Amino acid sequence: MAEMIHPFGRKAHSLAVIDPDKCTGCGYCAMFCVVECIYQQPDGLYWVDPERCIGCRSCKVNCFNEAVTILPPKQEA
Ligand code: SF4
Ligand code: SF4
Repeated sequence: MAEMIHPFGRKAHSLAVIDPDKCTGCGYCAMFCVVECIYQQPDGLYWVDPERCIGCRSCKVNCFNEAVTILPPKQEA
């Protein structure tokens, strides 16, 4: 997939994070990520690339183990 281009910079937006203690490695979140920014790690668990996540919440909705947390937009200094 091509890298996303942000010519005017990125707006602050929510960010998904996966709790490795709750993730079972089922892969559903990655299947439904609209920008394909969730990757399986060597240990079998999944990780969200914070540089590419757009905070759409699709992964959270599709995780049956409640392993995904959506962080609020980070305010720029
Ligand atoms: S859907 Fe949830 S349990 Fe499954 S890989 Fe993603 S974060 Fe882990
Ligand atoms: S919030 Fe959306 S873009 Fe971010 S990891 Fe989840 S599905 Fe992908």
